[in-house]
Amino acid sequence: MMDITGMLASRATGISVSGIRRIFDLGATLKDPINLSIGQPDFDVPEPIKAAAIDAIKNRRNGYSLTQGVKELRAAIKDRLREDLGWDTSDNETGLGALVTTGTSGGLHLAMMALLEPGDEAILADPYFVAYPNLVSLAGATPVYCDTYPDGKMTAARVEPLMTARTKCVLLNTPANPTGVVLSQVECDELAELCARRGVLLISDEIYDEFLFPESRTSLAADGKTMALPSPCRGAGTQDSVLLIRGFGKTFGLTGWRLGYAAGPRPLLREMAKLQQFTFVCAPTPLQYGCAAVAQADMQPIIADYANRRDMVVDRLSKLTDLPTPGGAFYAFARVPEKLGMTGTQFCEACIERNLLMIPGGAFSKRDTHFRLSFASPPDQIARGLDVIEEMIG
Ligand code: PMP
Repeated sequence: MMDITGMLASRATGISVSGIRRIFDLGATLKDPINLSIGQPDFDVPEPIKAAAIDAIKNRRNGYSLTQGVKELRAAIKDRLREDLGWDTSDNETGLGALVTTGTSGGLHLAMMALLEPGDEAILADPYFVAYPNLVSLAGATPVYCDTYPDGKMTAARVEPLMTARTKCVLLNTPANPTGVVLSQVECDELAELCARRGVLLISDEIYDEFLFPESRTSLAADGKTMALPSPCRGAGTQDSVLLIRGFGKTFGLTGWRLGYAAGPRPLLREMAKLQQFTFVCAPTPLQYGCAAVAQADMQPIIADYANRRDMVVDRLSKLTDLPTPGGAFYAFARVPEKLGMTGTQFCEACIERNLLMIPGGAFSKRDTHFRLSFASPPDQIARGLDVIEEMIG
């Protein structure tokens, strides 16, 4: 018999899924768990977006699209980035201005593959989004961890000492998964300036760009009027030195549609498009037409609702333990109180025994001292989950 296991590439077998897998395996044994582990919103896709996708399917727009994306969606992205950042994402002779990708993950993967070589280093925050270290390793490079405890901020002052001659990129995520922490505009500018000065590409994963609570909107958009997301992409010249990655999945409740986009330095986007051509080919065509209609959806009532959930979580958790206040996204990352003498994994396992599912901090970090609570679940579930946590800690 063929030894398939022996054939497997170390780039695959070297990836460990044990931390989260164990929680999901344990969770699968529960009948009706209080599920505060999920990283996707609980609202339905807005009607105009659904209608545009259904219309595309019915009108036979089901074939491949250009690898860079359909014209209508690229036009919507171009408008959005002009209004928000003052970027001009027209294509020119040096490359594309924007690339539609298969989810934010697709954009991140293409960026790593187009940029990193064995021996290169990529700096990322600890705690980090689970995929980051693996995306860097898949490209043959080495992740370098920037300790951001306890406030979750990857600032220039924390990043600079980690930079070496091998550093090729810094991967920023604001608002962040798993902490919900949002950098200020000054902190974003300082990091962008440091990276530009050191000739290091800054990659800004802004998948939660719309999931921003009112007090976090501290910077003015390019139109000079709208209060917008603090972003390292707001300074002059940033379009040539920062790769911006955003997505549609979280904001519009369509994570299964697999749609995101990248914009920034055109020579890099051109190489990413070439790699996309021979891997993903294109993002799902009819769903691209759906997302071309996102400007018709008003998400503000939903964000306001999520801000209330955030307040409920912070009010109750901060009486029990330490956590940075989430300024965006839909996660809280709280410390397991030392008096319990438990790791994040032990705490989450004990919660599972009480029917509550959360993710241990060790899944997102070199430390296993915290737990991540997602408030993308209905408020009654969140309240019940907080009751369990109160009982465990109190
Ligand atoms: N970046 C971050 C920070 C995320 O939290 C996620 C999803 N949880 C992704 C990227 C991947 O998103 P997508 O579904 O668009 O690939």
